[in-house]
Amino acid sequence: MAQTKNASHPKGLYVLFATEMWERYNYYGMRAILVLFMTKALLFSKEFSSHLYGGYTSLIYLSPLIGGFIADRFWGNQRSIITGGLIMALGEFVLFFCGSTYTSNAELSQILFFSGLGFMIAGNGFFKPNISALVGQLYPKGDTRIDSAYTIFYMGINVGGALGPFICGLVGDTGNPADFKWAFLVGGIGMLISVAIQLIYHRKFVKDPDGNTLGMEPTNSQPISRNPIIMTIGMLLLVMVSTGMLYLDSGLASIKHIGFTINGIEIGTALFTNLIFLLVASIVTIAAIIFTDKTLSSIEKSKVLVIFTVSFFVVFFWSAFEQAGASLTFFADEQTNRDLGFFVVPASFFQSLNSVFVVGFAPLLAWLWVRLGKHDPSSPTKMALGLFLLAMGYLWIAFGVKDVQPGIKVSMIWLLGMYALHTLGELCLSPIGLSLVNKLAPLKFASMLMAVWFTANAFANYLAGALSKLYPEAGKSKNILGFGIENNFDFFIMFVFMSGAASLILFFLSKKLQSLMK
Ligand code: GLN
Repeated sequence: MAQTKNASHPKGLYVLFATEMWERYNYYGMRAILVLFMTKALLFSKEFSSHLYGGYTSLIYLSPLIGGFIADRFWGNQRSIITGGLIMALGEFVLFFCGSTYTSNAELSQILFFSGLGFMIAGNGFFKPNISALVGQLYPKGDTRIDSAYTIFYMGINVGGALGPFICGLVGDTGNPADFKWAFLVGGIGMLISVAIQLIYHRKFVKDPDGNTLGMEPTNSQPISRNPIIMTIGMLLLVMVSTGMLYLDSGLASIKHIGFTINGIEIGTALFTNLIFLLVASIVTIAAIIFTDKTLSSIEKSKVLVIFTVSFFVVFFWSAFEQAGASLTFFADEQTNRDLGFFVVPASFFQSLNSVFVVGFAPLLAWLWVRLGKHDPSSPTKMALGLFLLAMGYLWIAFGVKDVQPGIKVSMIWLLGMYALHTLGELCLSPIGLSLVNKLAPLKFASMLMAVWFTANAFANYLAGALSKLYPEAGKSKNILGFGIENNFDFFIMFVFMSGAASLILFFLSKKLQSLMK
């Protein structure tokens, strides 16, 4: 029976909270120094680093499709979380060795770098979807505490997201590139803490309302699939595929011999070297499977159409938002006055701000939606508002850099204000969109439509890397659709137009979408 009064949460929620918190600490701590490590230690150009950042974070959102599938069919959630966590910790340690060898052995360190990222991608794929799936299962179906459980869990994500860049930045982003390795090391240690929490507390506390431990292997799974040798080989294969895809997408590999040509265009090479084709193929395949399904009613198909439409709009949101890990970190590093007199704030610290603001603002927004009562805007309208706030964040920082001479650093207040507005936007769009997908998806395609949401994130991150390549640099001419990007003002205004236009269109579509949802 649905419980309405009991507001206390099962202890298992706090086990999942702590597990996720330490994993996000590891992920965001590493991401905070990633482009700095690439440009200052590995001496990659900003454009190339941006491209790799996009490829890496894109695959981070694509690998959960495999991790979710394997957990549902074979391993169960807990085994997948632990395996994914260990693989990610290994990834951090590989990157630690990369950070220790880049001066003595450049070739080795490059191999270590790509493999380290491959480990992170594969590990995340098994960790992230499976931990999120467990939260709701702690409660009876329809329990009113589920929404607040996800809010608490989102807090865990962001406590980790705030701590990671802070601690990893403190030990790694010191001004001496040889120190970056320490950030990878402390990131990896955080990941091991997360795995230890799972191992020690999961069986005891993470239980369904009937007292059965959650996340165990599915009853029909073949024991052979859990054979440690098979598991190890499978994971290593995934690490290799992830590493390979990232490497091929980077364009470093010359693989002309596996390319084939149609009308002079090298189709094979393009397919293998550009992740974007893989992303398009995933979306088209999923759309074809769902829309050709004869058992779905036209009402269900309308709802699916809404999911595809809002997923399209979130691509515009995250591709501008996720500049945080790339161009905005270059901007914090080079164009922001970070000297407090007694302490120079490391550029990586700015990646904590979003999470700090989430923890501060989330209760405020939750209160606001309740307060608005029956005037509470519809989900698509809230998402349009999220895009609008994102545009406002970029408008704010665009004013901060307007007419500032090259070489002059601006106040930190511009990045601070921008991240505050971006976070308000995130809180209007991200949790709302996620629950919209959950509510609208026909049961039969629930996981596949969650995959659409993840793939939208993957697209967006790929685009984020591509857009970050336009970050203005002296002596390089950059342009988008014929518009030149000469300075920081032009760069930030580009995002104002992009997210502003998306917001406006979604706003006008929201009535139509609402009618399709009914
Ligand atoms: N910051 C959140 C997390 O790390 C959400 C990110 C996203 O959905 N793009 O889980």
